[in-house]
Amino acid sequence: MPDCIFCKIAAGEIPSNKAYEDDDVLAFHDVNPQAPVHLLIIPKAHVAAGAAEITSENSALVGHCFEVAAKLAKELHLEGFRIVTNNGAAAGQTVPHLHFHLLAGRDLTLHLG
Ligand code: 5GP
Ligand code: ZN
Repeated sequence: MPDCIFCKIAAGEIPSNKAYEDDDVLAFHDVNPQAPVHLLIIPKAHVAAGAAEITSENSALVGHCFEVAAKLAKELHLEGFRIVTNNGAAAGQTVPHLHFHLLAGRDLTLHLG
């Protein structure tokens, strides 16, 4: 998708600090971290703007993103973590390319946001 920041990051046109990459999924460190560990996990392809566009056509990639989250949590020895996805501007979404935030390293017990 032209002018999509995350498509450009997936293509290597914008640099990122990568934590994991395979043919279909990329995980990289958020440029403005909200926790000591704040990774973004994205399908490389622009299959959906957000969670509202998840369908049977692209949901395997969603599962793949969660597999990567579990793998990273294990590798990074995360004791607890949160996976968040914002859908739509009203929920605070700023980049309309499906992505999952993986947050850890601070007390996450009392907040849902
Ligand atoms: P959203 O607000 O859409 O749920 O999440 C978008 C996230 O992408 C934000 O946490 C923001 O800090 C991050 N972000 C935006 N632009 C870039 C960028 O160019 N590089 C990286 N690494 N993160 C970005
Ligand atoms: Zn995109």
